[in-house]
Amino acid sequence: MGKIIAVANQKGGVGKTTTCANLGICLAKEGKKVLLIDADSQGSLTISMGYPQPDQLEVSLATILGKVIKEEEIMPTEGILHHEEGIDILPGNIELSGLEVSLVNVMSREQILKQYVSLIKDKYDYIIIDCMPSLSTLTINVLSCADSVMIPVQAAYLPVKGLEQLIKTISKVKRHLNPKIEIEGILITMVDGRTNYAKDITTMLREAYGRNIKIFENHIPMSVRAQEASTQGMSIFRHDPKGKVAQAYQTLTEEVIGSEKWCKQY
Ligand code: ADP
Ligand code: MG
Repeated sequence: MGKIIAVANQKGGVGKTTTCANLGICLAKEGKKVLLIDADSQGSLTISMGYPQPDQLEVSLATILGKVIKEEEIMPTEGILHHEEGIDILPGNIELSGLEVSLVNVMSREQILKQYVSLIKDKYDYIIIDCMPSLSTLTINVLSCADSVMIPVQAAYLPVKGLEQLIKTISKVKRHLNPKIEIEGILITMVDGRTNYAKDITTMLREAYGRNIKIFENHIPMSVRAQEASTQGMSIFRHDPKGKVAQAYQTLTEEVIGSEKWCKQY
């Protein structure tokens, strides 16, 4: 059975999309069958996977969720695109905004995505879902179907308040909608090696949350290569395979696979 990982933080520009793409592709390099789902109406994950005009795609996540709402039949491969680096992606685009509005009147509106994911879950080892930068109904849908949440946090400053709100939302979802959800960990991204921010922030995060939440030892360094890769529709493993960002995502991937093995022993 596949593991579903949500990548969430209601703050934008913290590295959610980049983490989805690179974690996904690295898991695929390790021989795992991976599906990425773009649950952000900006379609950045879709763009970074080589589809520069997500709004022109005929079928996207919004189409599929619309079918779930209308109780129409969905083919298991419907809307899923294949990336040359060995992963599948269900694209997202602006239509998600309209869908979000229409969810207001839908029964079990927090569980729409879960209904879809349960159809395709068995075909993948990992499903990684990129969230939009808000705690919207769509993000709640993602949390409702996820086994775990990875929380990227940018090293430049610490929005503790925002993080508290996110963690509160996750525990609410756990109590009311999805008892199995766990926090995979907090991932510190875009670390500038010339400053001590990352160290200070790690210490602060550990003091605030370290007893209950894993904070990944491995940080993602800041590199212009990471930025270039996402604009060129390829992963960091293609664009700069020997660079420090590729190495950091490789280590993260090993930790994600490792935590799985560790969990299974119990
Ligand atoms: P989010 O999805 O949280 O909004 P993104 O992954 O889109 O964040 O990243 C925001 C911007 O920062 C993008 O332009 C991306 O290319 C860039 N970026 C992401 N990770 C890194 C990194 N490690 N080093 C430098 N730039 C990065
Ligand atoms: Mg994003």
